[in-house]
Amino acid sequence: MKRITSHSMATSLLVGALIAGAGCTEPSDNNGDEVLSADGKEDSIASATDVVSTKLGIDFQTKRGKATLTFAKRGSVSLEAAGLTITTVRDGKGPKAYRLRSGRLIATDVVSPLQIEYGFAQHTNSDGLLAGGSTVLWPYFCGNLFPCNSRPADGTTFEVDITGVPSGKSVIYPHQITQPAPAYQFAFAVGDYHTERLGRTAAGTQVSVSWLPNGETAAREGTKNLVKAFEWLETNIGPYQFGNDVGSVAAVWGAGAYGGMEHHPYWHVATDAMDNEETHVHEAAHGWFGDGIRLKCWEDFVLSEGTVSYLAARAIGQVAGADAEADIWVGYQRELNSARAGGDRIAWPTGCNKVDIIKDGLFSTFPYMEGAFFYKAVATQVGAAKLDAVLRKFYMTYRGKAAGMADMVALIKRETGFDPKGLVTTWLR
Ligand SMILES: [Zn+2]
Repeated sequence: MKRITSHSMATSLLVGALIAGAGCTEPSDNNGDEVLSADGKEDSIASATDVVSTKLGIDFQTKRGKATLTFAKRGSVSLEAAGLTITTVRDGKGPKAYRLRSGRLIATDVVSPLQIEYGFAQHTNSDGLLAGGSTVLWPYFCGNLFPCNSRPADGTTFEVDITGVPSGKSVIYPHQITQPAPAYQFAFAVGDYHTERLGRTAAGTQVSVSWLPNGETAAREGTKNLVKAFEWLETNIGPYQFGNDVGSVAAVWGAGAYGGMEHHPYWHVATDAMDNEETHVHEAAHGWFGDGIRLKCWEDFVLSEGTVSYLAARAIGQVAGADAEADIWVGYQRELNSARAGGDRIAWPTGCNKVDIIKDGLFSTFPYMEGAFFYKAVATQVGAAKLDAVLRKFYMTYRGKAAGMADMVALIKRETGFDPKGLVTTWLR
């Protein structure tokens, strides 16, 4: 998710996102366990089955798309499609009857694959295809680009082909994501890109950076330790699972949006943040937490943002020195103090998919910074190297799956003998 760097930035992002939520699409409010009744007439349809694979053909010029989805099982499906103009729907048996309700495409007794042809539109509030040429679908705006299920636990593979890119520009996106990913992980970016290979890690991963005109100086500054930091993550947390070609991609988000987005394997960094090393490493670390391990519930947001905020500081410290790490913690403390001045919120709410991450304010500085300080406090108790080992064990246990913050708390206790309950209360609840 977007990295928030100050309270004012958070506010401007939230305002933008709130406008988008009110005007353009509806948030997912389901818990994924409802199904259509036998006659298919009830109104409270949610998602009956998970999306397993998503194949997309997108024409950038005509803004037309064709999605081919497969599902975990035969049955009723309810897909987010608020921003799409649906033209044709077919399933494995032929032309398929469907209904559109509350921004959802609903069909019963679907036999995979479900093929949907549609049109999509440009959006203005970080909620789909942006004027700058890149897409942002987090948290629940995937339905403005392709039919989807935005619940973070739902992992789908991707196979994508993008055509219609204007001459003189290129498009950067993964042709394939072969491991299950949350819907918001996918993105593309169209622009006048120059891609520079920064180097290869010991595990063989090619790390690059792609900048836009006049962006070279900032891009080189922000990625000066990126290969080493990525290698540190591979070595200490576990093997990367979204391919062997990765990189930071400059994205034009427009005024008020600062930070990055974990669109692995080609994560985006807003042009304003391209010189900021911490943002690059933060987004890279989402390849392990947030993408590589998905969130069980939106309430587990801290498992993604708190963990990668900690890991960004830790990885930079390990590859660039203790002073570099200390600087990051000073910045984190400043961010936290600034946020607290506007009123404290808990970083880790109870419940599962009961919150609207934007409207209920969970998308704030607190999961990021209080989450990072929680881990720092654990490291003080058990040793940072021991905590690295716990994070590695957690990743190796849950990669490719969904997990929650409670799983992390339990593993810290089991692996170290230290019960972090008190630190949970202090920092997260
Ligand atoms: Zn993040």
